[in-house]
Amino acid sequence: MSGPPALLLALEVLDTMISAGAAALPRETGGILGGFRDGNLVVVTRAVVVSDSGSSRNDYVRRDTVARARLADIRAQAAPVVGYVGEWHTHPADQPPSGTDLATLQQIALEADDLVALIVLPFDGANALTPHSLIGASARTRARRRSVLTWSAPVEISELDAAQLESCANTAHDTEGIPPGAKAGPDAR
Ligand SMILES: [Zn+2]
Repeated sequence: MSGPPALLLALEVLDTMISAGAAALPRETGGILGGFRDGNLVVVTRAVVVSDSGSSRNDYVRRDTVARARLADIRAQAAPVVGYVGEWHTHPADQPPSGTDLATLQQIALEADDLVALIVLPFDGANALTPHSLIGASARTRARRRSVLTWSAPVEISELDAAQLESCANTAHDTEGIPPGAKAGPDAR
């Protein structure tokens, strides 16, 4: 990997979170993020709402069974490149990610064994504020234990929508991928 990981959101992802978050106020809501990875970039094309009937002003539990069913729905509809890339939830007040949120990120990074994102969208009254976004990745240490690295990554919003981004990914992987052993640059003779 070179450079810190970054996060790119499809045009409509933040809107989905803002409308679900506003509808749930004064309680929290959240769900899972669908998308794909491209090198150090986590591309989020779908924010899926996984509602929690027991959520409160400062607590949201992302229900596993519902989340799995929603993810299966996405996989059935979306391009094959799309899979689970993380979690999101709202904070009804202007609060950054909590200690629990960071622990969750570490846990999902260990389980995913790849880059994962956590987006926390705070509100001030009815207004959505700038989202906080974190990326986690698990790595093996010299002692062969696994440790998790986390980064604070600014959210960049793409000008492309989900379908456009997902079709770019398909093209890149299926037809424009560099064949194994191919060389490029001044070394190639
Ligand atoms: Zn939180």
